[in-house]
Order: sequence, then structure tokens, then C-alpha cells
Amino acid sequence: METRRVVLRFPKHLLDKPITSQLVRQFDLEFNILRADITQESEGLLIMGLTGKKANLEKGLRWAREQGVEIQPLSKDVVRNEKACTHCGACINVCPTDALTIDLETRDVIFNANRCIACELCVPACPFRAMEVAF
Ligand code: SF4
Ligand code: SF4
Repeated sequence: METRRVVLRFPKHLLDKPITSQLVRQFDLEFNILRADITQESEGLLIMGLTGKKANLEKGLRWAREQGVEIQPLSKDVVRNEKACTHCGACINVCPTDALTIDLETRDVIFNANRCIACELCVPACPFRAMEVAF
């Protein structure tokens, strides 16, 4: 099993088609939607993690491309330097996917890398330079 984080762009004529549900059902994949948007040009944008057997992932993504979906892998990672993070909370509100949240009991800021879409918004927001882009 492996997981790939991908950006799917749906042109307008595909917006009412059940492509995502067909993709996960036909190719036996699990999905975790990190962000979903309709952009100004009425294009659909879905950022998601897809998990399944490697062969199924490849076949499924090929099938989705054949349907007209534009697919890009998320190639960069954003990581947190745990030694530098002071849990000040300045990054929480800029994160569009709730990858940075506060633990209400401990007041620690939790970084959930599985929800991170590597948008980099938290990088300049962190006064301690704890959020770093890794290639
Ligand atoms: S802004 Fe930086 S130091 Fe503050 S909680 Fe976020 S990662 Fe940690
Ligand atoms: S890069 Fe930072 S702001 Fe963007 S999704 Fe990841 S944790 Fe959130």
C-alpha cells in the first residue's frame, strides 16, 4: 500500500460527473480530501491523499487523466523543525487544511503532516522559522 498526495483539476464540463467516486471504487482506493474548491474560472480543484496498491494507484490516476482531469503530484513537503517550534500558534490561522491545530489540553501546536498540502503559507508566518520546505 502507498499514499500519493495529488492535485486534481476538473474542467467545467466534468464538474457534475462522479469521477472521484468512480476512481476510488473502481481501483479500490481510499481517499482523504485535504482541500476542495471551485475556482473563479469555475474549475474544480481537489487536493487529496489517495491510498491503495501501487498498481491500482497508477491505473486509477491514468484513468482519471483519460477522463480529462489534470493531475499533478504534490512534490514538495513542508516539515516542522521540532527544536525550533515554540508552539506560539502564529501558524494556525494561515493553514487552509487544518494541518496545524492546537491541543486544547496541553496548548501544544500539533502538526499533522497527512493534512499538509505544502502550500507554504505557514513558512513566512512562523516567527521562529520552524516550518521548512523540504525537496
Ligand atoms: S508559528 Fe512556528 S513556532 Fe509558532 S507554533 Fe507555528 S511552527 Fe511553531
Ligand atoms: S504548508 Fe503549512 S499552511 Fe500549508 S497546508 Fe502545510 S501546514 Fe498548512
